[in-house]
Amino acid sequence: MTEPLSRLPTLSRRTLLAGAAAAGLTAGMPPVRAAGLRWDGEAEIVIVGSGGAGVSAALAARECTKGRIVILEKLGVTGGSTRFSCGYFNAVDPERQRAQGIEDSLERHIADTNASGRGRGDPELVRILCSEALDALHWVEGYGVKYEPFCSQIYGGLFPRSHLPKLSSYIDVLLDACRSRGIEILTSSPVLSLVLNEDGSAAGVVWRDASGTRCTLRASRAVVLASGGFSANAELCRLHDPRLGDLDTTNPAGSTGEVMLAAREAGAYLTGCDWIECIPLHVHYARFAILVERCIFVDQQGRRFVREDDRRDILRDTILSLPSRFGFVIVDHDGFESNPPSFRRELHEGLERQEVYRAQTLEEMAQLLRLPVNNFVETVNRYNGFVRSGRDEDFGRGVESMIHEIRKPPFWVCRASMSRHHTMGGVSIDARARVLDWDSKPVGRLYAAGEVAGGVHGASRLGGNAIADVHVFGRIAGREAASEVPA
Ligand SMILES: Cc1cc2nc3c(=O)[nH]c(=O)nc-3n(C[C@H](O)[C@H](O)[C@H](O)COP(=O)(O)OP(=O)(O)OC[C@H]3O[C@@H](n4cnc5c(N)ncnc54)[C@H](O)[C@@H]3O)c2cc1C
Repeated sequence: MTEPLSRLPTLSRRTLLAGAAAAGLTAGMPPVRAAGLRWDGEAEIVIVGSGGAGVSAALAARECTKGRIVILEKLGVTGGSTRFSCGYFNAVDPERQRAQGIEDSLERHIADTNASGRGRGDPELVRILCSEALDALHWVEGYGVKYEPFCSQIYGGLFPRSHLPKLSSYIDVLLDACRSRGIEILTSSPVLSLVLNEDGSAAGVVWRDASGTRCTLRASRAVVLASGGFSANAELCRLHDPRLGDLDTTNPAGSTGEVMLAAREAGAYLTGCDWIECIPLHVHYARFAILVERCIFVDQQGRRFVREDDRRDILRDTILSLPSRFGFVIVDHDGFESNPPSFRRELHEGLERQEVYRAQTLEEMAQLLRLPVNNFVETVNRYNGFVRSGRDEDFGRGVESMIHEIRKPPFWVCRASMSRHHTMGGVSIDARARVLDWDSKPVGRLYAAGEVAGGVHGASRLGGNAIADVHVFGRIAGREAASEVPA
C-alpha cells in the first residue's frame, strides 16, 4: 500500500513517539533459505527503510538501473528519524564557510569526527564520510533540497560546518523524487527476516504486507538495509548501557533494531552497539539547545556544570551523574527567535504544558524553576562576561560557540533531561557499504547504510555527521547494489 500523501501534514511527533515505548525486542529472526522457496514477487533491489539512507540508496540505484526498486517501510508513514531530524548536514564547504570567515578543512573535519568518536570509528569509513560529504550535499541539492546559505555549530558538532535545510521535513522532497522516478514505496510493510542463497548471499526478504499477509520478495541484484537505529528499543539499549533503559527517546517507533538483529542471524558482524548517544532535552524539544552558541546549561543550584559545546558523550555522562539526572537549558529572546517558526510554535505549546518556561527577568525565571536566585543571576552574568572577554574561565568553552550573550528578555528554559537519540553501533560495513561477516568478509548482495550500520562514528557521534552519513553511505550502497549482476 502506498502512503497517502494527505497524511503527512497532520503527522505529529507525539503520535509516532507514543508507540516507541512498547518495543523491546532483543533477538533477531533467523534467515530463511531460498532453496525451494515460493517467491511472491521480484525486484532488482529491495531497500529496507524509507529514511535518509533508504531514499538515497534508491535514488542512487535509479541513476544506474531502470529495473524495479522497492522500498519496504514498517510504519504507516515514511521518513523514519530523518523526518524528525533538524537535518543539519556536516560538510566542509568553502563557499558557505568562507563567506562567514570560517576556515575549515577536510583534515579538521576528520580530526573532529575522531575526537568526538574517541578514535573508535573505522578510519577508512571516517575518511569517506568526511571527504564525500560536500559532494553528497550537492547531490541532495540536485534533487531539489534547499539549504540556508550559512553554516552553524550545533550541539556536539565541535565546529561551525552544519548546513540547515530550509524545509525541516526535507525528506519529503527526496521521497517525491523517488516516486516520480518509479521507485515503489510500500508502507506498513515490515521486513521480518532475510532470505539467503546456498552460498550465504542475500536473495531477498520475508515481509508482511499492509493486510498482515506474510510475503516473500526476491531481490535479483541486492538487498539494502536502511532501517535506522535502535534508540526506541528500551530493552536493547538497556542491555548495552544499563543507565539508559528508563530514558525517553527522541526517535519514532520504527527505530527498534530488529533488522540489525536479523542481519546478525544472517551472518553479519555487529560493532559498537554499546555506544548510545543521548540528547539533553525533553523529547519534544530536541532542537531547543541545538545551536550551542545560544545556550548555557545550569544545574539545580543554578550553576553551570559542563562545557556546553563539548562532545555528546561527555554531556550525557555529566548530566546522568547529576543527583537529579537533569539540568536546565536557557536561551534568551534572540536564541528563541533563531529557531524556525514551526519549532517556535511548538515551544509556545510547551509553555501551556509546563514543559517549557518563559520569564521576563532572570530572577523570575529562577523562582519559576525553584533555583537559588542569586546563583542563577550571577551564573548568567558571569557567562555574559566571558562572551565579552572571549574566554570561558570556568569550563574553557570554544570561542566559536561564545558569540552571543544571554541578555535579551524574555528568557526561555527547557529541562535538560537525557533522551536516547542515536545508536552508533550496527552491522559492520566496508568502504563499499557491503555488510561484513564475522571474518570481515562481505555477505554477498547485502548492503547497509545509515544508522543501521556501525563503525562510522566511533564511540560518540559528531553532531551533524549522521545526516552526512545517511546520504554519503546511502548513495554508495545504492550505486553498489545496482552494480551487482542480476541473479
Ligand atoms: C529529533 C531528531 C533530530 C535529529 N537531528 C539531526 C541533525 O540535525 N543532524 C544529524 O546529523 N542527525 C540528526 N539526527 C540523527 C539522524 O536524523 C538519524 O541518525 C538519521 O536520520 C537516520 O537515518 P536512517 O535513514 O539511517 O534511519 P531512519 O531515518 O530512522 O529510517 C529508517 C526507517 O526504517 C524503518 N524500519 C525499521 N525497521 C524496519 C523493518 N523491520 N522493516 C521495514 N522498515 C523498517 C523505520 O520505520 C524508518 O522509517 C536527529 C535525530 C532525531 C530523532
